[in-house]
Amino acid sequence: MPNLEGKIAVITGGSSGIGLATAKRFVKEGAHVFITGRRQSELESAKAEIGRGVTTVQGDVASLDDLDRLYATVKTEKGVVDIVVANAGFVEHAKIFDLSEAHYDKTMDINVKGVVFTVQKALPLMTRGGSIILVSSIVNVKGIPAHGIYTAAKAGVRALARVWAQELKDKGIRVNTLSPGATETPIIRGQFNSDEASDAAKKVFASMTPLARLGLPEELASGAYFLASDESSYVTGIDLPIDGGLAQV
Ligand code: NAD
Repeated sequence: MPNLEGKIAVITGGSSGIGLATAKRFVKEGAHVFITGRRQSELESAKAEIGRGVTTVQGDVASLDDLDRLYATVKTEKGVVDIVVANAGFVEHAKIFDLSEAHYDKTMDINVKGVVFTVQKALPLMTRGGSIILVSSIVNVKGIPAHGIYTAAKAGVRALARVWAQELKDKGIRVNTLSPGATETPIIRGQFNSDEASDAAKKVFASMTPLARLGLPEELASGAYFLASDESSYVTGIDLPIDGGLAQV
């Protein structure tokens, strides 16, 4: 029997990259997934790609009203949540010399506030316990120039997993972070002005990585599956880096 048979999962930012690969893997393992994203057209393409076992809900993770609408839909359709993957994320480059309040607010709103309320608002529906996966980043233990506020956000998310693992243990809910290294998804191209600059950055990341390449979204989805399923029944409060060794050696 697939290991997530009958499970209900919510995946934010589920229309591309790691979120989409995770949605596909969870459905393959028997789950029904609710995926969110800001653009309806991208959600529709993702839904077609996933094929079955998926509901889309358009919304911004930084909007509490949108999150209320998301969980109202989940409640009406399924009545319960077993797995939350707080995956939606945003990064743009800014060094300390020139970062703005708008940069700070947007980075923190999506990467921290979005995670906090995605999780808090799921809890009333997590009546049979479950697994919460917060997508952090290997920057939570690195110092990469121009990633200051993003790093503070992702390190904050890793810290939240420690606290919530304690606060939610009596409800039978495990909480862990999953930390990608450089992974082949649209978020990398979005940080550069041209394909050439993005490709050059990928080469640098590959050269810094012991396994000498970028990760694939499916490799991150394997980690999400491990943390979501009973395969990780004795695992809570950890950070699981899937990074080809980038931040490990
Ligand atoms: P991606 O761009 O494919 O996915 C990010 C998703 O988040 C997108 O679908 C995007 O539309 C969505 N999103 C952004 N802002 C949102 C908002 N306000 N509301 C709702 N959805 C929003 O990139 P990805 O690599 O799959 O990113 C997934 C997670 O992995 C992110 O949290 C990212 O920070 C993290 N991460 C990625 C890498 C990498 O190299 N790809 C490395 C470390 C961490």
